[in-house]
Amino acid sequence: MAFEGLTTRLQNVFGKLRGKGKLSEDDVNEAMREVRLALLEADVNFKVVKDFIAKVKEKAVGLEVTKSFTPGMVVVDIVHKELIELMGGTQSKLAKANRPPTVVLMAGLQGAGKTTLVGKLAKLLQSQNHKPLLVAGDIYRPAAIKQLQVLGGQIDVPVFSLGDQVSPVEIARQGVARAKEEGRDYVLIDTAGRLQIDEALMEEIKQIHAAVNPDEVLLVVDAMTGQEAVNVAKSFHDQLALTGVVLTKLDGDTRGGAALSVKAVTGCPIKFASTGEKIDQLEAFHPDRMASRILGMGDMLSLIEKAQTNIDEEKAKELERKMRTAEFTFDDFLEQMEQVRKMGPLDQLLDMMPGMNKLKANPNFKIDEKQISRTEAIAKSMTKAEKQKPDMINFSRRKRIAAGSGTTVADVNRLLKQFEDMKKMMKQFSGMMGPKGPKGGMK
Ligand code: GDP
Repeated sequence: MAFEGLTTRLQNVFGKLRGKGKLSEDDVNEAMREVRLALLEADVNFKVVKDFIAKVKEKAVGLEVTKSFTPGMVVVDIVHKELIELMGGTQSKLAKANRPPTVVLMAGLQGAGKTTLVGKLAKLLQSQNHKPLLVAGDIYRPAAIKQLQVLGGQIDVPVFSLGDQVSPVEIARQGVARAKEEGRDYVLIDTAGRLQIDEALMEEIKQIHAAVNPDEVLLVVDAMTGQEAVNVAKSFHDQLALTGVVLTKLDGDTRGGAALSVKAVTGCPIKFASTGEKIDQLEAFHPDRMASRILGMGDMLSLIEKAQTNIDEEKAKELERKMRTAEFTFDDFLEQMEQVRKMGPLDQLLDMMPGMNKLKANPNFKIDEKQISRTEAIAKSMTKAEKQKPDMINFSRRKRIAAGSGTTVADVNRLLKQFEDMKKMMKQFSGMMGPKGPKGGMK
């Protein structure tokens, strides 16, 4: 999952700071040096890192971190806030034209995920009661038109195509006209990508731009390509007035540099993050949530939002409270597992939970569905009292639970250890959170 390395490194830095009652200037400088290295290693643009560290240091001096009683927390808070700023501050929403249809033009290199994004965005818009029309403007890549038609078919959204013999400029123009005639309120125009930026590509997309005057020009970039993604974004932005960036393949093993640099380098906000090949794997990009995720504080809000579509609100609140206060029993664990399984790929959901990245780094912890079923079986074989107070599970109880769940004592031991780890992590984070969220004004 994206950011794993960065998260682990930053957590180590902050872990060291938290252990200290007071920080000297040297401690702060040392921590900043490590944060700097962690960011560089995550492939964040060099200049961006430099500015970032300068800002954090300035704030640390301003807030007199060295005099604080909870200096580690203050430093985490400053870094958290600066990360949010770095990624654009507040969420930047998709444009909406005063007079429909809203025209959205996609730009980007081949393979970045434009066609897939058109389908995903259409699904998202549809779920918000909009009526999108898809326009097949990529006439060069074999099968791009067909791909779009298949996507449209899957979600029952019409696709406008004039085949591959009409110019994309004309296709875009007629597509927008068609949307007006048919009362569709969003037009999503897919365009051709090339392997590299070339003049013909730029010229064509500029002409499309001039012909349809889009409300939104989204640059789709592959987060896996790291700094290259940022360079691509810069080249496009120099020639075409982009209004937003969409990062794709954030489900992959990206080090995260693109997400952290693209706004600072281009000035364009990241509007969406794509996290998989399936049509519903698209999320609005929230800088604050992403910053929390990067710092390993989990992404409780996204998790709760996902939960709310599956669980009723009261349960979701209770879930959040329990995680925050670390009042977590195996009953909660079981209930959560059940709800979580309804919500989507476990791997992605776990990334949103505080401390899970550390847990996942443990070689004993693997996310495979069979393992999850085994885990559930073990928890279900516990008595009511054992679920509430796992401390009481001695060796003979472990043997009984293993027999009851068709597992081994080693499996039971492992789960108990993981559960303890998880609670510890939650406790650690709950120390930073007040009743309404993190202390010190962290969002
Ligand atoms: P285009 O050339 O820009 O239109 O790119 P496509 O939409 O055809 O996507 C290229 C490939 O990337 C396809 O195999 C997609 O399934 C895949 N893809 C797109 N977005 C994502 C994503 O967020 N995660 C992953 N893992 N794959 C993606």
